[in-house]
Formats: sequence, structure tokens, C-alpha cells
Amino acid sequence: MMLVLGNWKMNKTVAESLEFTNDLAASILPKTVDIGVLPPFVDIYPVAGVLEGTSIKFGAQNCYFEDNGAFTGEISPPMLHDLGCTWCLVGHSERRKYFSEVDDIIKRKIVALQRHSIKPVLCVGETLEERRADRTFAVLSAQLTRAIEQLDLGFEEFILAYEPVWAIGTGIVAKPTQVTEVHSFILDLCGKMHPKTKFKVLYGGSVNSENVSELILPNVEGFLVGGASLSISNFTAIINACAVANKN
Ligand code: PEP
Repeated sequence: MMLVLGNWKMNKTVAESLEFTNDLAASILPKTVDIGVLPPFVDIYPVAGVLEGTSIKFGAQNCYFEDNGAFTGEISPPMLHDLGCTWCLVGHSERRKYFSEVDDIIKRKIVALQRHSIKPVLCVGETLEERRADRTFAVLSAQLTRAIEQLDLGFEEFILAYEPVWAIGTGIVAKPTQVTEVHSFILDLCGKMHPKTKFKVLYGGSVNSENVSELILPNVEGFLVGGASLSISNFTAIINACAVANKN
């Protein structure tokens, strides 16, 4: 089943997220696609109330790696678990860029999330400079190795999102050949590190209702959607396109 996650980033007040979520819950959505929204922290609790009893799930965009304590301003995995979060993003390029989220912190967040049964969605991707310098695979390899090589991922499914930094919020979407090539590389590398774990790789970066169909490729298990997830019509169109592809 494909997975479509909407990363709202720092958008929507409580009232706006309630309006959006009520509309989404009232939409006719396919049962063959896993759907999740990732609201800002303060919107998660009200959104959870609206989504109760629906098939739409929710998660968070970030967390800290300690369970509780003197960490002013932070939110912990047990708090997110208490709200019913299914997923939490880790290593989003905006967090790497603006909030110094380095690989070691990412690793600790993954461990903390797994301890509380929240699925981490590990985001990786190269910048335009790195791609131009032919360093894409070296960068991805470093990000993935540092974050998960030493972890005990067990037999579980582990979700990754390939998000080329140059495609996030820019309107420039990666070409299907680029996506296929990178997803194969990621699956191969992660499979070697953790042969017993099933890896699922989402694509993210300027996905919208117009370009989604061309990105539904054999090794693309879904999408992490930013800008286009803020509009019901765009978000549902992406979900419906995934249902048409009807991947198992
Ligand atoms: C994202 O925030 O993960 C993302 C992919 O954003 P956008 O779809 O706006 O490029």
C-alpha cells in the first residue's frame, strides 16, 4: 500500500487545521492508500480528535530524543505517543539547515521514537551543489550510514524519504529517472546494512496533483508532500492518483 504524508510545516492555526481536517475526513478517500497528516505540535491534539474513528492517521514533524526533563521548548516521543502519533519526521532538510539537526542527533531521535512505538520517517537528500559536484551518492551514503548503520532496526519496516533539497518547495521536481536511480541506491545500501528490515522509500520535493502520476514508479512507495498538502483538492488528488496506481 502506498503512503501519502502531508507535512504542513509551520502552517495552520488550530482553527485552520480543524477546518482542513474536517474537510479531509468528509472527503471520499481510497482505502488502498495509507494517509497521514503531520501538523505543527500545537495542532496535533485537536486534529487527533477530528480523525478519531477515521482511517486517516497523523504524526509529528519533529521531536527531542529524551523522554522528559529540563529541555525547555522540546516535545518528547512519549508525549507524541500519548497523542496517538503514528509517525514522526527526522532529519528533514529544513531541520538540518535551520536547526543544526546533525546525523548523530537524528540517530538518537530514531532510537527514542522506536522506544515509544512511533515510526520514524528518516529524510535524506542532497543539495544542488552536491548533485552538481557528483556527490549525491556520497552524501546519501553518509547520511544513511551515520543515522542507521549502528541501530538495531529488528525485522520491522523502516520508512525513508528521499527529498532532494533542490526540489523542496522550489517547484522543481526530480525526474523519474533520478528518483528511480536514487531509490535503488538507497534500498541497496540500507538492505546491506539491515538485511532483515523492509525499507519503504517515499519521494518528496514539489510533488503536486499535476506531476504525481509520473513519479509513481516501481521503487517509490509513496510521497512526503509539503506545499501541496495544505490544500484539500491538491492533497486528495495526490492520494487518488496513488490509489489508481494500486500498488500492493
Ligand atoms: C517537504 O516539506 O517535505 C516537501 C517535500 O515540501 P514540498 O512538497 O513543498 O516541496
